[in-house]
Amino acid sequence: MTDHTLTKEDKRDDFSQLTRELLAKRSGYICAYPGCKRMTVAGSDDRKSGLTMTGVAAHITAASKKGPRYDPDMSAEERAGETNGIWACQIHGKFIDDNPSKCSVDKLRRWKAQHEKWVFDRVESGVELFNRGVCRLSFGNVGKFSGDFAIPFGRNNVLVGVNESGKTTFCQILSAFSGGDHWKQFNDRFSFSKQSENHAYIQLSHQSDNTTTAIRLSPQVLSDGRRKAENTRQRIHIEINSCPSPDWPRSLIRVLYFDTQLYHMHYSEPKDTFVKALRYLANVLGTDEDLVWDSLREELFTSSIFGNRFRRTGHRKVEILVPDGRPFFLPHRGLSFTEQQMAFLDITLKLASCGSRNENWIYVFDTTFFQRLDQQRKSYVFKRLTELDRSNVQTLFCLNSIEDTEVLKNIQSDKWVNAEHFGDLTLHSFL
Ligand SMILES: [Zn+2]
Repeated sequence: MTDHTLTKEDKRDDFSQLTRELLAKRSGYICAYPGCKRMTVAGSDDRKSGLTMTGVAAHITAASKKGPRYDPDMSAEERAGETNGIWACQIHGKFIDDNPSKCSVDKLRRWKAQHEKWVFDRVESGVELFNRGVCRLSFGNVGKFSGDFAIPFGRNNVLVGVNESGKTTFCQILSAFSGGDHWKQFNDRFSFSKQSENHAYIQLSHQSDNTTTAIRLSPQVLSDGRRKAENTRQRIHIEINSCPSPDWPRSLIRVLYFDTQLYHMHYSEPKDTFVKALRYLANVLGTDEDLVWDSLREELFTSSIFGNRFRRTGHRKVEILVPDGRPFFLPHRGLSFTEQQMAFLDITLKLASCGSRNENWIYVFDTTFFQRLDQQRKSYVFKRLTELDRSNVQTLFCLNSIEDTEVLKNIQSDKWVNAEHFGDLTLHSFL
């Protein structure tokens, strides 16, 4: 009797070899635990199989009564079936078994489904869709863009078109979603809030992990009577995931817009372009101008991306050591315009990277900034920034020339995924 009970208790509805293999393959031989994505198969020295397999098929509901998340209502067949398994690396296989409250049946089913979908999408499109940041920019009837456009984004993007083809318009539509001065510039330039009769709209789709948020801005439509009666300024209608909203979540994206605007249009004073640029930076970072100047200390810039070094010499005075072999620091006025651009880039990227990793940044290089760099510097800037591999940073580079685009494409040819043509423009996206 006792023996019989024990046997029953110990009875395990294990996965067959075939089911294990099916689970591994549906999972792409990749651990399905959220955020892990560890590969679990590789070649080995083993002469027999030539493989090293480090994954396990974990039970969602246990194979035996004593195991975690056991479900007595399930049949033995269901318990040993593919739908009751999740593929994991050895660490997460153990973790799943030891932590049934953290890894509930519902959660495991969801993780399995999400991961298998992720694998399926990769197989279907050949693309690892990055899982965080702006994934699409849609707009209609803004500036020279009449009609509807929906442009997919990659992590890094290159926008190509001749002069006057709408590159700056595109950059400004994107930047508008970060609010503040960027929004104001966009709205002022296109009188966007007064374009309700033209059915103008702009929409940004943003994804983080497994949720997508779409923010749509359009001019408020007022009846003629109300417009006359109120005689107020036009308002903007905001929708988040198709629901009217009082405000758009600006924290979704932050934008650094590199343009000659920094130097000419944005502020009339001061005259010094470099000082002007730092004022813009303080504005974008939401901090005090003096604090930005105070941060230009040597120790903070020992490993800057483009190799510039900074030394504060007094109130709003800094000397810069340019990485060209010259052994001495120079005041910023002693540098060429391009050298100032590169120094400004270094400061900007360093200070932006000091912020929270939860903030998503887009670095936008409009033609007026990027085109002023020579071919070699353009390639260098593109290479360094696209190799940064910070999950919270996206880039958009604007170019006039097809030849330049080919050069940049070759730098990241293995990561190039798509070319989207719209109007007279092409957007190349990279992983
Ligand atoms: Zn894992």
